[in-house]
Amino acid sequence: MTTWPPQYDDTYLPPNEQEYWFPDLETETPSARIERVLEKVRGQMAWAYERSPFYKRIWDAAGVAPAHILTLDDFHRVPIITKDDMREDLIANPPFGSNICDDWSDIERIHGSSGTTGIPTVLTISRGDWQRIGNAHARVMWAAGIRPTDMVFMASPFSLYMGSWGALVGTERIRARSFPFGAGSPGQTKMAVRWIQATSPTVFYGTPSFALYIAETAREQGIDPKSFGFRTLFFSGEPGASIPATREMLQATFGATIVDMGSTGEMSPWMTNGGCAHSPGMHLWQDIVYTELVDPVTKEVVPYGSEGVPVYTHLERTSQPLIRFWSGDISRWTDEPCPCGRTYPRLPMGIYGRVDDMVTVRGENVYPSAVENVVRGMPGLTGEFRMIVSRERVMDELTILAEYATGQEDARDDIKARLEGTLAATLGIRAAVDLKSPGELERTQFKAKRVIDERDLHA
Ligand SMILES: [Zn+2]
Repeated sequence: MTTWPPQYDDTYLPPNEQEYWFPDLETETPSARIERVLEKVRGQMAWAYERSPFYKRIWDAAGVAPAHILTLDDFHRVPIITKDDMREDLIANPPFGSNICDDWSDIERIHGSSGTTGIPTVLTISRGDWQRIGNAHARVMWAAGIRPTDMVFMASPFSLYMGSWGALVGTERIRARSFPFGAGSPGQTKMAVRWIQATSPTVFYGTPSFALYIAETAREQGIDPKSFGFRTLFFSGEPGASIPATREMLQATFGATIVDMGSTGEMSPWMTNGGCAHSPGMHLWQDIVYTELVDPVTKEVVPYGSEGVPVYTHLERTSQPLIRFWSGDISRWTDEPCPCGRTYPRLPMGIYGRVDDMVTVRGENVYPSAVENVVRGMPGLTGEFRMIVSRERVMDELTILAEYATGQEDARDDIKARLEGTLAATLGIRAAVDLKSPGELERTQFKAKRVIDERDLHA
């Protein structure tokens, strides 16, 4: 057994023109990677079993111990843990839960989730973990094309949202310049336009919603967002960068490479679903965080080409590791080769839904991302939208609010009819369209809330 956790050399930097950060790891054969991952799984589990009352309790009850894990198939029988398990543990062991595996003196920072549903998650992250997160993110961001010569404009909240903090340490580890601009304050969108113009950053980070809002604000001032000169925009927090029509809209708006990244709040700041500059979707960086896609019902690993729920396992986290964590997201995975030459499997359409975000309307499953793809792909619209699900007596009704673009007022009826037709063909159910004037729907500096389910009011 090699040492666990792994050691990284903080002085290492690949040559600028090199495609990979760690060529050997990123292009190794799947069978060699399985051995590497298995060894790290065993190291991670042994650490947790010894130090975490949380895992000791769950694994002992299931009759599982790290010594039993001889293959990845063995590992796939370790109990899956959920947000509810973590919540119960936090309630029973306030305020930090019983899964802090580091000595308290080694913890560097406390972070929290926004806790929009239920009680907030508390994250304790050790010094060593931050060092490994920096190295992990540098690797993933290098694949996105970010280099020491870049300046990264970070238009995302530096508060409870963890994506920002991971992207920041990754930028610092690459030795690029970061501008932690933030998001969410009144007037910050106009300010973003001014600061981008004044400082000429080469890379943008934030949500697709906020990037498009900044672009719209720039255009209102007669500024073409292409003139910002971004070479690359990378995103997390929302699925948009892998939704074809949104991706094309971002590309056309900024004239730059679009890269999707992300994971799930609990796994962060390890944002180890990360795209490359060569194709849409995201790679799964399996030797940093091991990801399985499982059937939502049987919980068995599904074959490549299939849809499933990502189940994540930290492989180099000493504080609060998550081992087989149920994300509740929906994606499809593939092992088809990527032009970049990395042998990591991919989520070619990114993460396009959540088990609990999907709305069922008259028996059909409707993902907000499918509506987004239609609305953003149709000419004559601004791209902003809302979905409202309501119930008239016993029938579910789906209404899509969208905006016609400036100058399209006379074509309203035609746009409405076309949108209704395309939505019906795509979703398999009829949806009413309520067309608004440009700018009528509220914009966001962070994650858009686009689904309004009014049926809850009558429940
Ligand atoms: Zn690739």
